[in-house]
Amino acid sequence: MTGDPSNESINQTPGKVDVLGAVDGSGSIGSPGCDSRSASSAVGGSAGDVAALAAEVTALLHDLASSPRPAGSAAEERARARCAAWLTSRGYSVADQPFSYSALPGRWGTPVLGVVSLLLLGAAVTTGVAGRPSAGLLLLAVAGLVLSLVGRWVVRQGILSLPLMRCRSVNLVATRGDRPPTVWLMAHLDSKSQPVPIAVRAAGVIGTLAVWGVTALLLVAGVAGLRPLTEFWWSLLAAGVVCALPIIASTVGGESNGALDNASGVAAVLGAAALLPIREAASVGIVITSAEELGLAGARAWSAGTAPAIALNCDGVDDQGEIVVMYSGNRPQQILRTVTGAAKPGEPVRTRGLVPGILTDHVALTAAGWSAVTVSRGTIGTLRRIHTRSDTMAQLRGDGLMAVASLLARSATRLATGVGSPALSADQDAAQSAEGVQ
Ligand SMILES: [Zn+2]
Repeated sequence: MTGDPSNESINQTPGKVDVLGAVDGSGSIGSPGCDSRSASSAVGGSAGDVAALAAEVTALLHDLASSPRPAGSAAEERARARCAAWLTSRGYSVADQPFSYSALPGRWGTPVLGVVSLLLLGAAVTTGVAGRPSAGLLLLAVAGLVLSLVGRWVVRQGILSLPLMRCRSVNLVATRGDRPPTVWLMAHLDSKSQPVPIAVRAAGVIGTLAVWGVTALLLVAGVAGLRPLTEFWWSLLAAGVVCALPIIASTVGGESNGALDNASGVAAVLGAAALLPIREAASVGIVITSAEELGLAGARAWSAGTAPAIALNCDGVDDQGEIVVMYSGNRPQQILRTVTGAAKPGEPVRTRGLVPGILTDHVALTAAGWSAVTVSRGTIGTLRRIHTRSDTMAQLRGDGLMAVASLLARSATRLATGVGSPALSADQDAAQSAEGVQ
């Protein structure tokens, strides 16, 4: 696999290359049971050692993506054990953190929302056709308020506390120091399949929002005395039906191997865990969540019991495409500046808000008061594979993993040390110039 020379920049300051040996005494940076090489040689050392780590990360990706991993399944448990062994062999203290949640919102929330939205649209269109736009606007206002309150409760509390469809699963948490980490690297291990790809669902959500916007505008125009043609109202309803279909069809199955979503993100995070310099690794924790695909349940349970900090979530690392850092709500300036600043020249990192209709674990953390983003790599074509049976290793080589792992490690190092820290900048400058890293 491609060895990313930037891997070297975070560990090569002279006198600071003892990456893992100081922690567990083994000096191991390899895969479980592979203890023969020195710590300094693997991460901060030769291109051959970087290539060896890249090969191990790719092998990890293949193992994780060998079968579907629905939340709470035996396959997910086996994959989690593989992750735990990887982290333990690199000096991390690893703990299983079991949690329980309601799978009802994650399994049925999206289809139910699609049906409710369509029924409301039908009612609003009917008021428009009947020439009673005020009643339509009142309906929209009340329904919007009720839906947002119910949705807010379900998302913030219901997923963990609803008494229906209770399930159990486990988050894997790994740390290297005694004090609580200030920065976390996160990725979800579970996978799911849906009858429609995530890109089609997102298009349905965006289309539905647009139809609702036009409907509200027409109702306002009606109140102002304008009468749109009846045919226009029915066309609007037809558009609403088309957009709602992929939302209503978003039921949950277990037929995707989840190679891209999200064995690749887990492999990138575990690659970053192996690359972290020992001093900063004490301030950086690793969390491999479960049930992300069921309402971000694992991230919600974990953040409920963890003091808010900084998190870099990784979800989807494709072979092609640019690296994108996504956020929700207010721009997390500190993280965005740090990650874009940690990118290599010629490997630009783009930042943007999360696309409507797509959820990732950082959304749960942001809602809990964290400063969090999701790092992905891909193209529009990437979205077509997610949550489908074709998300397998037949469609993925893992070429992008080391670049993203390296970026995550560099970013976490800078965030843990303090953005703009003169000492860190000097170290990295020295390391880069010593190695000729551009
Ligand atoms: Zn995902």
